Amino acid sequence: MLTNDVIGGRGIGKKYENSEKRKKRENRMNKLKNELKRIDHKGYPAYKDLKGSYDFVKYTLNIEHVQGDPFASPSALSVRIKGKTADFPKNYYDVYHRRIALEDFILRKFSREVSKISFKAKGSGKSGMVSASQPGQEIMERSACHVDEKTGDVLFRFVVGFPARGRSIDAGELEKILFGLLPKAVEDSGIFKLFTDKEKLKEQIELADDQKELRELTKENNFAAFVADGSILPRESGVSEKPMKNAVLFKSPESMSVTFELPHKGKITGMGIKKGITLIVGGGYHGKSTLLQTLEKAVYSHIAGDGREYVVTDETGVKLRAEDGRSVANEDISLFIRNLPNGKDTEKFSTLDASGSTSQAANTVEALEAGSKLLLIDEDTSATNFMIRDELMERVISADDEPIVPFIKRTVPLYREKGVSTILVAGSCGAFFHVADTVIQMEKYVPKEITERAKKMAAEYPLKIKADDTKIKIDENRRVKLPKADDRTKIKVMGTDGFLYNKTNVDLRYLEQITDAEQMLAISKTLEYLIRKYGGKEISIKTLIDDVQNLIETKGVSALTSRGSVPNMSKPRRFEVAGCLNRFVK
Ligand code: ADP
Ligand code: MG
Repeated sequence: MLTNDVIGGRGIGKKYENSEKRKKRENRMNKLKNELKRIDHKGYPAYKDLKGSYDFVKYTLNIEHVQGDPFASPSALSVRIKGKTADFPKNYYDVYHRRIALEDFILRKFSREVSKISFKAKGSGKSGMVSASQPGQEIMERSACHVDEKTGDVLFRFVVGFPARGRSIDAGELEKILFGLLPKAVEDSGIFKLFTDKEKLKEQIELADDQKELRELTKENNFAAFVADGSILPRESGVSEKPMKNAVLFKSPESMSVTFELPHKGKITGMGIKKGITLIVGGGYHGKSTLLQTLEKAVYSHIAGDGREYVVTDETGVKLRAEDGRSVANEDISLFIRNLPNGKDTEKFSTLDASGSTSQAANTVEALEAGSKLLLIDEDTSATNFMIRDELMERVISADDEPIVPFIKRTVPLYREKGVSTILVAGSCGAFFHVADTVIQMEKYVPKEITERAKKMAAEYPLKIKADDTKIKIDENRRVKLPKADDRTKIKVMGTDGFLYNKTNVDLRYLEQITDAEQMLAISKTLEYLIRKYGGKEISIKTLIDDVQNLIETKGVSALTSRGSVPNMSKPRRFEVAGCLNRFVK
């Protein structure tokens, strides 16, 4: 862990303190130089002796973990700049949303700066590699940068491939990195006075204010989501989250248009999606899924230029889909599935290989259990028999013989009884017209509100499926048993697909709102943390996710690592933490 043992000397006479300080500092810097000299040309493991912290006058360098050989994962380092030196305006970091915006901005800058010096020093294997976290389009809390809300101290975490010739230490090359190249990268991104893009930083802080206000206004005015006019919804490609060039810009239908006043940007107009049940319809390829995906992602805030910076969705919004083959443990899915022919209990349902409908039922129940107030569903990725059963089918197969109570029978009660809204893309099934409060038609990427017309036409085709009036109950006390903790855990993240936990494959591919590999790593660490704390005990899912969320909220995402150096992690939501637990427990 980082020990912030820069020379303090508080309470000593000022003059004395200064000269004394300087001397000690020089000693400290020389200490690293001398060490480097001593270990030069030695076998690579002698690099381990460098572990510790070193004073670089403007900042403290901390060597937290040293790689075992030149081909292993590069060594973990951090730098800490004292608040007095960093000197960012206090009001840029004294409240959470601004602090995250500041951290995001200076981390991006630091990351660009270190990438410029990467591999300037040379050698075998990963020698000379210098790299920091590279955030995507979202602005979120990351362990790679931290600004202390009280002191203003700035911390960057990064990795360096300690240089080697063959397998012996090339200390000259490491000296070149640490003394020649790194100081400028650190100072240019972590010291406000030296900042060249102060204006851009101010804009990012103001954007964060506006985004926060927009979220609050959306909520206060009873909307589940808001999409500003002029937003760019589609992305560049399936593998790039950058905005599509020459996209049709978003424009709200007149009837759904609302205007809010933001503190910096001033007036902003866009489409407000009211709480309740919203249906998105339209022909194939007209932009329905793109709108829904935008809403899925807008539980997070986006950087300037992304095209979605003024799109906000209820932060508890969860994308639900079918997920054949997932495992389900001890779950009450009777809201949707009951009276199975094999007599299996669906109030305590377990399977290692769920079907399309049972998996989607489980995903829905779990989202509700974790506290979601907004369900986002695309018919493209749903199990048809989970969503709907048509009249003819219900005539032929009576509802009493059908274990599935389709979602269409639950969506209105979910809103009325539990305040849970649904936004649903349905291009082929008209039955949802009957239950929708709002119907949006996407036409060549332009939304139109057609609620009245759709309702009128639906009235001519009354929905003749039997209502189901069982009360909605959400089990918040479902208990699961975590395995006993191992002495050592080995975690290997596979992008946004999931991770290996020791030998267990945790497949999270279908938690489509996971932002990046850093968030995946954080999710895997929540699992490790919970197993260490509660392994072998039976405990409720709610207790587990509340515990880990509380840890992250109070101590920051880096607290998920209890020992050793802190890897790059980004803050996960409780829904993805729950999603991971629910797929892991057996
Ligand atoms: P749907 O779900 O209605 O079938 P999609 O949302 O999948 O349609 O969109 C179809 C294609 O149109 C996608 O390739 C998407 O990138 C593109 N697209 C979506 N919205 C826009 C837009 N506003 N401008 C330009 N292209 C868009
Ligand atoms: Mg689609």
